[in-house]
Amino acid sequence: MKKYAEDEENMTYILVINAGSSSIKYQLIDMDNEEVKAKGLVERIGIEGSQLTHTTIGKEKLVVKKFLKDHGEGMQEVIKAMVDPVYGAVASMDEIQAIGHRVLHGGERFTQPSIVDEEVLDGIREYIELGPLHNPANIKGIETCMELMPGKPNVAVFDTAFHQTMPDYAYLYGIPYEAYKDYKIRKYGFHGTSHRYITMQIENKLGRKDLRIITCHLGNGSSLAAVKDGKCIDTSMGLTPLEGLIMGTRSGDIDPTAVTYLMKKYGMTAEETVNYLNKKSGVLGISGVSSDFRDLESAANEGNKKAQLALDMFVYRIKKYIGAFAAALGGVDVIAFAGGIGENDGYVRAECLKGMEYLGVCIDEEANKGRGELDITGEGSKVKVLVIPTNEELMIARETKALAL
Ligand code: ADP
Repeated sequence: MKKYAEDEENMTYILVINAGSSSIKYQLIDMDNEEVKAKGLVERIGIEGSQLTHTTIGKEKLVVKKFLKDHGEGMQEVIKAMVDPVYGAVASMDEIQAIGHRVLHGGERFTQPSIVDEEVLDGIREYIELGPLHNPANIKGIETCMELMPGKPNVAVFDTAFHQTMPDYAYLYGIPYEAYKDYKIRKYGFHGTSHRYITMQIENKLGRKDLRIITCHLGNGSSLAAVKDGKCIDTSMGLTPLEGLIMGTRSGDIDPTAVTYLMKKYGMTAEETVNYLNKKSGVLGISGVSSDFRDLESAANEGNKKAQLALDMFVYRIKKYIGAFAAALGGVDVIAFAGGIGENDGYVRAECLKGMEYLGVCIDEEANKGRGELDITGEGSKVKVLVIPTNEELMIARETKALAL
């Protein structure tokens, strides 16, 4: 009996917060077994129709519809749900030991997760210019938690940090060096928490770290990373998440002159053009159908040629990056897929790796039809091909535990 009581006291709960401009996504993770205890979403903060959806695992879902004017009110609602006697997960917020926050842009300053203090907050503020949509929301999320849960350690986990090991010849752009010195214009890369999680899962699975890995995070936003001996040496996203692959609504790589030409021809301002490239382009812009791959594939199957073209362009760009990263790594040991598309779309995985026998890559088509974590390596393939469901929240919780407890 005594042991049980002690265990209860020693429970390690970490709250993971991903604050967007009008939303707060959260998970409460029990670090003793790394299982999600509760999760939820506050949507439309500051907009008509705000609501909270909260689920404590094993209990009924709670939906609260009420106007929430800012992140503070949103977070107050999260706390209420968390301690609710019927729908809640804990008796009091004191049971939560620490809070981990996803932060988009950590620039060159943050190469590791950091315990938040005033200096760290200033650092995150410094990169608002580079992450104008996310960093202000991330700061709001942190400040709100500091205010409503005083005394709890808050840890910032940066999307850019994993990529900070890239060498200068990989992260610099071919523009005058002063642009880097004066304004820190360079490739940073994103989805770092996911690429790091996938890398660690592969290392654990294969029992070694001396690996050349290409991690493919394919979701609404998509990026690839080249990882050697556990360290990122290159990635497809750049100064912002617009560079690299063709994505749901983002163009990915484009000749910068096309940008000024677009501005001239359509009479768009710089801001409108960036919005056009971020929100109206990618497979949505090409197909005119959708940014969702389920819609694209059913349209293509019904004979929609533009939907098929968008799919062809998406996989072709990935194939080119895999070739480039294989060259950068001096060969490949593992290619891993993750993200909504990478984890669920066998068609995309197969198309990306088609004709790569020259690299020693072939996949098992039957295994590729499966779901969840998969080994889809084909017979005789020199390269291991894996599907690793990503878990950014768990990675943030692990980093938070390691740093704060
Ligand atoms: P985010 O980048 O916002 O985290 P996700 O990683 O969840 O997004 O990926 C979302 C995308 O995954 C959707 O837009 C959709 O294109 C794709 N997706 C989800 N499920 C499937 C599926 N069963 N088949 C194909 N694509 C899917």
